[in-house]
Amino acid sequence: EGMALVELAKRTGEGIASLQNILVNVGEKVDSEFDPISIDVAELVAMEVGANVRRLHSEEGAKLERRPPVVTVMGHVDHGKTSLLDALRQTSVAAKEAGGITQHVGAFVVAMPSGASITFLDTPGHAAFSAMRARGAAVTDIVVLVVAADDGVMPQTLEAMAHAKAANVPIVVAINKCDKPSADPEKVRIQLCSEGLSLEEMGGDVQVVEVSATNKIGLDKLEEALLLQAELMDLKARVDGPAHAYVVEARLDRGRGPLATAIVRSGTLVCGQHIVVGAEWGRIRAIRDMMGKVTELAGPAMPVEIEGIRGLPMAGDDITVVDSEERARMLSVGRKKRLEEERLKNLNEGRMETSGTDEGTERVEMPIIVKADVQGTVQAVTDALKSLNSPQVFVNIVHTGVGPISQSDVDLAQACGACIVGFNIRNPLSSVIQAANRASIKIRQHRVIYHLLEDIGDLIVNKAPGIN
Ligand code: GDP
Repeated sequence: EGMALVELAKRTGEGIASLQNILVNVGEKVDSEFDPISIDVAELVAMEVGANVRRLHSEEGAKLERRPPVVTVMGHVDHGKTSLLDALRQTSVAAKEAGGITQHVGAFVVAMPSGASITFLDTPGHAAFSAMRARGAAVTDIVVLVVAADDGVMPQTLEAMAHAKAANVPIVVAINKCDKPSADPEKVRIQLCSEGLSLEEMGGDVQVVEVSATNKIGLDKLEEALLLQAELMDLKARVDGPAHAYVVEARLDRGRGPLATAIVRSGTLVCGQHIVVGAEWGRIRAIRDMMGKVTELAGPAMPVEIEGIRGLPMAGDDITVVDSEERARMLSVGRKKRLEEERLKNLNEGRMETSGTDEGTERVEMPIIVKADVQGTVQAVTDALKSLNSPQVFVNIVHTGVGPISQSDVDLAQACGACIVGFNIRNPLSSVIQAANRASIKIRQHRVIYHLLEDIGDLIVNKAPGIN
């Protein structure tokens, strides 16, 4: 089985020269564009040039098996996304076993008495969802739209609906806080209908479940609704063969190094395999399930923690299995090079834009350093901050990182006149705060994206009073 370079160029719509470049990067030598390259290599190259290249291998004949749905929780701030996830997590497999992973690892599995299971992504909100999507990771199968029964449809409810629609992901509505005396679920239903959601009870296909996260009421109904929705979607995945997976969360462990929580989309991930993870690479040293138990294999929709990646990947990064360390390293080098080129290009564009707009007015630059608890949050915060960009404002994210704000962040902030944003992290050491004060560097700590954006918006206005 093989494919000539010309054929690959035709199928990917990419030029022969750039394909040849990538082939060199993965350590393949092709003398003529008519020489056959193996399907595995062709697929690797295809993956490098397009975010969404269909597998060149025919999946025909591949054994497809039913897989659990992967679910994201979205909704307006304070409507109970976190509480609902907490309540669901308590019914999860890990919570039932002592010694389960209690840390935030980005996903958990709820197993039903019937044997079916549901995988929940543990980062609520559409910022994380869209950050993943922006990186080409279509991980979510179903969105749970949380709407507080006492508050009704709010701006971020509509935003979440828009995100789900754009991603073509079906919604299951959870009307939360139904325990409250002021709850009015009927009103919420009417609001949702008038926003264009066709609810099941009105003859549509969107299921609605009334719940109380606090009193743990209706959680089983919600889980049933999700499984029903999954059944309608007939979710299946290839189980055999090389895995294709996504990172949903990554963190640095003192002893074990970079750890990534990953969800396999198709195939099976095997301990010992060489992988490319976004622009990082490594060899899988250990796979752990959500209970922290070491396992050899990970199949579709099963969240696992992977150890052995050499750098810290980002949420949304794809995981590709390759057949040698050499190839993994080369792919990583190639991707890093391209990322750096893109970064420089963006930086230059940013500079040009800051140098003036059409009206000759200056574009205000707001350099920001972002620190947060986990990689997924870093990305969500970064994306949210970039939404403040406008013809007058350029939010320049000069550095991002996981963990508390450190002296080196302060040094960097001083060097580039940046302010430091801390999200969902504990306060910095007092020595760091003092250093920041001495250098007149602003440190802003937040736990709600909404508040963060308001705050930074104010900073921008203070910097350039003419701006709105
Ligand atoms: P998020 O911003 O959407 O993640 O919302 P949270 O989960 O942080 O909840 C916001 C507030 O609503 C908190 O004070 C919760 O205790 C409260 N809350 C969440 N779910 C319920 C519920 O089912 N009933 C009641 N009465 N309060 C709830």
